[in-house]
Amino acid sequence: MSEIGKMYIDGQWVLAKSGKTRDVIGPADGQIVAAVTEGDKEDVIEAVAAAKATFDKGDWRRTTPNERAALLHGIADKLAARIDEFAALETLNNGKPLRDSTYDVYDSIDCLRYYAGLINKPSGQKYAVPNPDMEAMVVREPIGVCGQIVPWNYPLMMAAWKLAPCLAAGNTVVFKPSELTPLTAIKLFEILEEVGIPAGVANLVLGAGATVGQEIAENMDIEKVAFTGGTVTGRKIMTAATGNLKNISLELGGKSPCIVFDDYDLEKAVDWAMFAIFCNQGQVCSAGSRLLLQDTIYDAFLERMAERTKRIRIAKGDAEGAEMGPLISEAHMNKVLSYIEIGKEEGARLLCGGYRMTEPEFADGYFVAPAIFADCTPDMRIVQEEIFGPVLAVQKFHDEEEAIFLANHTAYGLAGGVFSNDLSRAMRVIKAVRAGITWINAYHPTYPEAPWGGYKQSGIGRELGTFGLDEYTEIKQININLAPGNSGWFEIR
Ligand code: NDP
Repeated sequence: MSEIGKMYIDGQWVLAKSGKTRDVIGPADGQIVAAVTEGDKEDVIEAVAAAKATFDKGDWRRTTPNERAALLHGIADKLAARIDEFAALETLNNGKPLRDSTYDVYDSIDCLRYYAGLINKPSGQKYAVPNPDMEAMVVREPIGVCGQIVPWNYPLMMAAWKLAPCLAAGNTVVFKPSELTPLTAIKLFEILEEVGIPAGVANLVLGAGATVGQEIAENMDIEKVAFTGGTVTGRKIMTAATGNLKNISLELGGKSPCIVFDDYDLEKAVDWAMFAIFCNQGQVCSAGSRLLLQDTIYDAFLERMAERTKRIRIAKGDAEGAEMGPLISEAHMNKVLSYIEIGKEEGARLLCGGYRMTEPEFADGYFVAPAIFADCTPDMRIVQEEIFGPVLAVQKFHDEEEAIFLANHTAYGLAGGVFSNDLSRAMRVIKAVRAGITWINAYHPTYPEAPWGGYKQSGIGRELGTFGLDEYTEIKQININLAPGNSGWFEIR
């Protein structure tokens, strides 16, 4: 990307009013990979004004579901024709292996097609009331102007997860990617323009969370804010959104348990447990960052897991066969490394990794060798706090009751997995885990068809599935009097 990446406001590609720019850093080698315009509060205000005028005009929200479906399919088609280009750009900007970026593009396409297919399906309700002359029904309508703020760990996929249901429902939107990873969002908006999303419907604003994000959360003309990111930021957004009592949905952090009983195949469980924590460099809200092992397999399991973890192919994301890449930024790497020190100080036993990789090919990037801490106790900070990196905290349990206690002993409730060949036990345990996204004998596979979100401090509301579309609608009851007449309440005098 040679020219400065621009924002897309009211159908125009524009530079920030401040004239400021921001360098985008590639985490594989710390080099500048692009420069983008740096928006601020006044750019958000302009984008919101465009989104509001477009919504109020009414043409967009009166498009038929089939027309909006055609646009979403059009976006999906264009993405599908450029999978390699989008994947390469995501890897350049985010650092993740090309295999992962490619998967993210496919997921984004699936999500767009899912909502394209969903919007012309039956919705609303018809209900009986105790008056034969009244017809009563419930319809769903778009909310209005929505603000969307997404993080850096799945930049394109998060954009698709947010934009697809929002536009499907007929809203207009002001969208903000992470300042660290704006590149695929800019390309996606180019596609939105190409397929003919009308001016003002979808607006892209670039800039920092503290300025652009904060204004999106506060702006009185935005009626809904949808956010994915850290719990601390989620709290700030919830507070900022009180001014006009915005509808909010928050997809926040987690500290999710992966529970393994001794009757499950050890080799397979090791493999899933590695995927649970180390996928996407551990930068996954639903990561299985707490491994709970039954005492009877504890030592053998950890010996094998450490052995395999040391053999993970860590490389720059565009290298052939890369299985893990760098962390997103120097600051984030330092935060993760500081947690490694905390873990050591707390007395957890480091089995492998946990250091910055300094070999020549890694020296300028933000690579951290995946770490496994054994012998963790429930109240350690590395067990309770979201690290968002390749750091696993392992605990031992004796029986089902203790596994459930440990699994739920956290402020979070996003995800969880259990491995056992005793399906009754697995089902008992997973039902007792207080989390919104769960698995039995697997970890991570999810689909746009199913709702995504958490219990407790992992968030509010759900994305994806039919629930995800509902989050972008208001509910209206309509009552029709079939026997026009007087109300009958007051005597006619
Ligand atoms: P944040 O939660 O800070 O960032 C997520 C998004 O929110 C970004 O677009 C960010 O903007 C924006 N943002 C930041 N501050 C505000 C604000 N005051 N008002 C509105 N929007 C704001 O995540 P970080 O990138 O700082 O990571 C911090 C921690 O959050 C991680 O270590 C991890 O624990 C967690 N996290 C969880 C994610 C999840 O999927 N659950 C995803 C990412 C992070 P910008 O980046 O442009 O400043």
